[in-house]
Amino acid sequence: MRLIRLVANLGYGSQKEVKAMIRDGRLTTASGEVLAADSRCDHADIRLDGEPLDPAPGLMVMLNKPDGYTCSTSDPGRVVYELLPPRFMHRSPLVAPVGRLDRDSTGLLLLTDDGALSHRITAPRAHVAKTYEVELARPLNGDEAIIFASGSLMLRSEKTPLAPAKMLVLAPQRAHITINEGRYHQVKRMFAAVGNHVERLRRIGIGGLGLGDLEEGNWRCLSPDEVSMIF
Ligand code: URA
Repeated sequence: MRLIRLVANLGYGSQKEVKAMIRDGRLTTASGEVLAADSRCDHADIRLDGEPLDPAPGLMVMLNKPDGYTCSTSDPGRVVYELLPPRFMHRSPLVAPVGRLDRDSTGLLLLTDDGALSHRITAPRAHVAKTYEVELARPLNGDEAIIFASGSLMLRSEKTPLAPAKMLVLAPQRAHITINEGRYHQVKRMFAAVGNHVERLRRIGIGGLGLGDLEEGNWRCLSPDEVSMIF
């Protein structure tokens, strides 16, 4: 890809603005050689004002989402993009959330500019497990794990029953639940269907991937090995 388009697609500016950066000698190699518009150079070797460029296309980001942020580009309230470098919202292709977390849900959110990879993770046929920790308004009855595992729980206004889900009780009002689908507000609706209410919901795992020591509000890029842990 030509240098101008590569840098513009990363969200650093319009093609006209990137041309001006080249004219001003702001784009160089790591060793300081000034780049021209037709220079061929490895992404990893390019510097803008001496700084390495943002990650190359094909990135997968893990964000520890705090409460109060929506997974949207255009919301009057706070959006998860505020927690990422501002340029991520202007990249082409866009770095978009892989599935969604509700505004009041927290925890592991993946974002990628790779649409095919995103689809591989979210497609119902992919059966990628998502694990949540829930805090409930009322103590568990004791039969929820059996109901969720049955594969016959119908949610209101759905046409098919939910696939079996696993629940692990941690305390009378706290549990881990693992689902392989991603229906609208699924976990909250599952607990509503058994007469409870989710007060707090935190996603702690997607496939074999967890948040590790990533602090709330922070993000980092995943390595290819980490991405393969999802499947
Ligand atoms: N299920 C929900 O109800 N909310 C989420 O944010 C994720 C799963």
